[in-house]
Amino acid sequence: MRRVIVSLIAALLCCGADWADVATPAPGPTQSIGFYSAGCLQGAQALPLDGPGYEAIRTSRNRYWGQPVTLEFITTLAEKMRAAGQAHLYIGDIGQPRGGPAPTGHASHQVGLDADIWFERQPGPRLAPVQRENAKLRSLVRADDGGIDDTVFSQQHVSLLKTAAEMPNLDRMFVNKWIKERLCHTATGDRRWLRKLVPWYGHDEHFHIRLYCPPGNPNCQPQADYPHDDGCGEALDLWFRKAPITPPVTSTPPKPYRPKLPAACTAVLKAP
Ligand SMILES: [Zn+2]
Repeated sequence: MRRVIVSLIAALLCCGADWADVATPAPGPTQSIGFYSAGCLQGAQALPLDGPGYEAIRTSRNRYWGQPVTLEFITTLAEKMRAAGQAHLYIGDIGQPRGGPAPTGHASHQVGLDADIWFERQPGPRLAPVQRENAKLRSLVRADDGGIDDTVFSQQHVSLLKTAAEMPNLDRMFVNKWIKERLCHTATGDRRWLRKLVPWYGHDEHFHIRLYCPPGNPNCQPQADYPHDDGCGEALDLWFRKAPITPPVTSTPPKPYRPKLPAACTAVLKAP
């Protein structure tokens, strides 16, 4: 019995449920505290659930909170895609109201600077609320993981990724190795944007944007740099030679994922 109580207390003190249970942001100026996969967010702002060129999906998860710079990135990208005549973007998880570890789905998304944008594109009207929870979200990769699914992949995806990669404030984006490989083989002209596309597990149904720590966030911990070439050589080949490889950019989350958060996050979690 004592052991059960101790583990219950440990679970409460640790992560997951407690961060997910807080429905509102912590007051105060917006501050990212800690690292993308071990941190929290004070003064989070909510992405409006509908905007020109985008709609948020799976909103019942209450993970549409982030840094203003992240919300601005999303709305600007959506505007650009709309101007290019593309269908709405489906915006998935950004972060919880106070950031922190989520009980499901991600190791990162903890400091308000990560966001998931889905590849699925459907012309026409916006989704009804119930559809947003269960939207059709197709993968760009074949079910046998043997390459790109060309019945889904289109030039719209290339344009979307290139546009996002060339926007300011973007540190990197995570995409499936097959997507990176396809772009490495087909991109012409200025290929510098390819550098921003970092291969990672999954990320075949959505891509993940990660922004730099914004100025004025002294407790936000930046991520180490990555190769300065287009990333189409050895860094990509590794993903095809042996998997899983040693993760090059962040750690694969152990399960359950229990990062040690900066001490300042306790106040963010407990703030009224
Ligand atoms: Zn993500």
